Amino acid sequence: MNKTFYGVISILAQIAAMIVGFIGIAKYSFGIAILFVAGCVISFTIFVYAFCTKCPIRDQCVHIVHGLLTNLMPNREQGAYSHCERLGTMLYFIFLVTFPQYWLINSPWLMALFWAILLSGFAINGIKVCGGCGNVYCPMRRRGGPILK
Ligand code: SF4
Repeated sequence: MNKTFYGVISILAQIAAMIVGFIGIAKYSFGIAILFVAGCVISFTIFVYAFCTKCPIRDQCVHIVHGLLTNLMPNREQGAYSHCERLGTMLYFIFLVTFPQYWLINSPWLMALFWAILLSGFAINGIKVCGGCGNVYCPMRRRGGPILK
C-alpha cells in the first residue's frame, strides 16, 4: 500500500479522536464540545497555512485534504520553516490533544479510546508516511528514504 493510503488513515484517526473528544465533552456541555470542534478546525487551518502552503509536494499530498486546502490559500515561497511557522503548525496538535483532557478524565473508556486512536494514527504516520516524504523542509522527515512519487 502506498503512502497516501496510510496518510489518509492517519488523518481519519485524528478525525475519529476529535469525535471521541467531542462526545466526552458533550456529556457535560454541548456548547464547549462545539467550541472544541471549532477550535480544531481553526487551528487546523492555521497549520495548513503555516506548514502545507510551503510544501513542495502539496499537489501530491499524502493526506489529500491538506493539499487540497492549500489551493484555497495564497501561494507561498518554498523553504525552511521559521520558528513562528513551526509554532503555528504545533498549535493544532497541542489543541487537539490537550483541550478534551479535562472532560475525558471523567470518562476513562473514552479517554482510553481517544489516546488509542490518536497514538495509532501518529504511529502509522511516523512509520509509513514520514520516511522519505518529499517535503524536504519538514523537520519530521527521515533522511535516506525514497522521495515520494
Ligand atoms: S504532504 Fe504533508 S506537508 Fe505536504 S501538503 Fe500534505 S500534509 Fe502538508
